[in-house]
Amino acid sequence: MSILVFAEHDNGTFKKSSYEALTYAQDLAAAKNLTVTALAIGSVSNLNELGNHGANSVINIKGNNLDIFSAEAYSNTIAKIANEENASIVIISNTYSGKSIAPRVAVKLGAGIISGVVSLPADDLSVKKTAFSNKAMAFVKLKSDRKVFCLVPNSYEVKNYDFSPSIKEIELDIDSSSVHTKSLNISKASGKIALTEAEIVVSGGRGMKGPENWGMIEELAGLLGAATACSKPVSDMDWRPHEEHVGQTGITIKPNLYIAVGISGAIQHLAGVSSSKVICVINKDAEAPFFKAADYGIVGDAFEVLPKLIARAKELKN
Ligand SMILES: Cc1cc2nc3c(=O)[nH]c(=O)nc-3n(C[C@H](O)[C@H](O)[C@H](O)COP(=O)(O)OP(=O)(O)OC[C@H]3O[C@@H](n4cnc5c(N)ncnc54)[C@H](O)[C@@H]3O)c2cc1C
Repeated sequence: MSILVFAEHDNGTFKKSSYEALTYAQDLAAAKNLTVTALAIGSVSNLNELGNHGANSVINIKGNNLDIFSAEAYSNTIAKIANEENASIVIISNTYSGKSIAPRVAVKLGAGIISGVVSLPADDLSVKKTAFSNKAMAFVKLKSDRKVFCLVPNSYEVKNYDFSPSIKEIELDIDSSSVHTKSLNISKASGKIALTEAEIVVSGGRGMKGPENWGMIEELAGLLGAATACSKPVSDMDWRPHEEHVGQTGITIKPNLYIAVGISGAIQHLAGVSSSKVICVINKDAEAPFFKAADYGIVGDAFEVLPKLIARAKELKN
């Protein structure tokens, strides 16, 4: 019996969340005396990297209808391989793509599913997961023999292994009639750190006054190697693109450091960011609700504080 990990990649480069899922799987496999098989779909060049992060064996599936992500084609493929590998547990990252394929895989396998997983299962295989938009934690135990776990990105530390995994490359012909939706075109934000993958995020709210002031947010983010994010009103007003909007109705993130500038800390915003490991809030209003959720708070005008932070970051970099 094995644990199957779906290793997501971006144009051939594996995502950090895939390495986290593999490390998670290897720790679980060691405790349960299982092996870990990584499954990569589409063209990737660095399959050996999967062994460096916990895969005992690697399967790479290529074929028509698999070059561009499709929830239907990918979930069919993952379920097929899970059956062939006799996988009792399938681990999929809790990313946008992962969230769209994991429930389909679970249905195809007749498996129970836990989304939002943040830690290894206890001895009885009960798992800690996020609940109520990250405002609570739940412990869930599946009764099904087969299980699908969706691991939240940035919730499990990546480890390095020196495994030399066996690598199987398979051409699979996916029947086009089983795929009902097809992406015609993908336009990507280029040259930016993906928000869901970022370890540091610098985020701005309405307190930034207008899009013309985002240079400071971008400069600080650039110096820290961070991604940029924003509150909902900021993207609603088109100050920033919608893919930067975090919160209940936007993206959920879990970076190691979240720096919130001129954001009040409304509950809907916190829903998307409160799992960040460290939160630093910059707000001129000492009563802003965000300070209650902050690890570090700076009460001050963003237009005075940001230039000082930028200058200090430059000093440290030099
Ligand atoms: C159903 C629903 C879903 C929602 N989903 C989301 C969501 O996903 N994400 C989200 O963000 N919001 C969401 N909202 C909106 C949310 O309720 C808040 O209205 C929003 O988060 C406020 O954005 P803000 O903090 O940028 O703006 P404001 O509430 O206007 O706060 C601006 C903050 O900036 C501070 N400030 C002003 N000037 C300065 C300065 N010069 N220097 C420093 N600080 C300054 C102010 O003190 C204030 O705290 C949702 C609302 C609803 C009803």
